[in-house]
Amino acid sequence: MVLKEGATRSRGTVVQRGNITAAKIIAELIKSSLGPRGMDKMLVDSLGDITITNDGYEILDEADIEHPAAKIMVEVAKTQDEVAGDGTTTAVVLAGALLKRAEELLDKKIHPSAIVTGYRKASDESIRVLKMIAQEIDVDDKDVLQKVAETAMHGKATDSAKTLFSEIAIKAVKLVAEEKDGTLLVDKDDIQLVKSVGRGLLDSYLVQGLIIDKEIVHPDMPKYLEDAKIAVIDTALEIEKPEFDARIRLRDPIQIRAFLDEEERLLSEMVNKITGTGANVVMCQRGIDDLAQHYLMKNGILSVRRIKMSDVERLSKATGAKIVTNIDEMSSDDLGWAELVREEKIGEDTFIFIEGCKNPRAVSIMMRAGFERMLDEAERSMQDGIGVLVDVLKENKVVAGGGSIEVELAKQIRDFSTKISGREQLAVEAFAEALEEVPTVLSENAGLDPIDIMVELRAAHEKEGGTWFGINVLNGEVANMIDLEVLEPIIVKEQAIKSAVEAASMILRIDDMIASSKAPPAPEPPPGAEY
Ligand code: ADP
Ligand code: MG
Repeated sequence: MVLKEGATRSRGTVVQRGNITAAKIIAELIKSSLGPRGMDKMLVDSLGDITITNDGYEILDEADIEHPAAKIMVEVAKTQDEVAGDGTTTAVVLAGALLKRAEELLDKKIHPSAIVTGYRKASDESIRVLKMIAQEIDVDDKDVLQKVAETAMHGKATDSAKTLFSEIAIKAVKLVAEEKDGTLLVDKDDIQLVKSVGRGLLDSYLVQGLIIDKEIVHPDMPKYLEDAKIAVIDTALEIEKPEFDARIRLRDPIQIRAFLDEEERLLSEMVNKITGTGANVVMCQRGIDDLAQHYLMKNGILSVRRIKMSDVERLSKATGAKIVTNIDEMSSDDLGWAELVREEKIGEDTFIFIEGCKNPRAVSIMMRAGFERMLDEAERSMQDGIGVLVDVLKENKVVAGGGSIEVELAKQIRDFSTKISGREQLAVEAFAEALEEVPTVLSENAGLDPIDIMVELRAAHEKEGGTWFGINVLNGEVANMIDLEVLEPIIVKEQAIKSAVEAASMILRIDDMIASSKAPPAPEPPPGAEY
């Protein structure tokens, strides 16, 4: 007995087939959401909270997935989301298709390592072809950027707002992009998405600055302040209250009076320290005592308390404020600056806007929608739009979507397979077939006959100038997707292929699974037991 009691071990084909099946189920689960005609999923968690989404990663993240191989598929979606910001469904569908084809090869007694090697070669070749045929775009051409962003947002519940959302995303990304060694890099954290229920999607807008989901602590403080000198404080503007046993010793009213006077003195000193630096705005991560609020108000200082740490860091970065942890050592050098700080009630929520910050690389998007679940999906849509824009700024190359790129790659991979000998050749061919899963699913989801469409697509790609022929899902015709301006960043496709191949290879290599037993629940004492 090497394994712990209760651990189970399974090996060989049982494990391999079990894993493949689990992974295929995941791909099957989300494939109906692929493409502009894809459907949404409604997910209900154990607490009854509902999410309605079309986003591959979101679906898998919300679904409570247990099987270890299925979890690898969730990882694929996650990596895709982090690296490319879009293409999560595609990556998972592709991984599922690779495994489906691999299963057929396993049935023919082809060794998993031959399949893995074949897939690896086909993947390298696909990426080489991808880089060769991708089209360069001018990142200053707003129209092209608009098309790229709209393609990513097409077919979501928020479709009606995709033009506006794309415009907002382009502005946001352009404002925060920074040139490093000739490439435009964007730190997505510089773009803050703030959500407020009410109005409609088309009431969403961009703010050059920060938005904090808080209100001003005192009603008599200014609600609108230009030339804001901002103190960002990470300590409570309160006097630490004595412990209970210390308090009972203050029986004498004179002592109590003295104690209160002392408290008042300390708080007023604290506020004097702050006003002494020239600050007219206080942004505090902790609490602000009522009395301190009063003194701050008397000094005309706009103050906000209990700000989230992440917002405090954002504030510091945007306004140039140093985060103060000790009021006694505070000076004017610690203050940040913004053109304007103001409070505004939007829908049911009150927000603080910090606009025209010292560091212009701070933008926020106020997302609006009539109800909460739409708002959440709007946020994901916006993130996809931002994601693809960040991709094309980083590498200014696009390919056409609608299945065109996958059909073209499949064709070129089939040609390439003739150069590969032995059993690996079969795997390379299988890879080509797996790529065609994307146009197949796109046409299925659009209610078209995938067999007819594939025949037409292959024929179109054989012709001169047929490279970009894909499915116009709106009318079911095979058409040039560049002409239809369905454009996707090369990074999205490259990453989808890479992660799909990695996941499929990883799952194929496993032939042994050892699972330790879960800790048994502690036995309940029988009723009436004496303890
Ligand atoms: P993913 O999570 O993979 O991004 P989507 O549901 O966003 O999944 O669908 C992406 C697919 O939809 C891509 O293959 C893309 O080319 C395709 N697509 C997007 N817009 C269009 C369009 N107007 N016509 C045809 N296909 C489109
Ligand atoms: Mg997408």
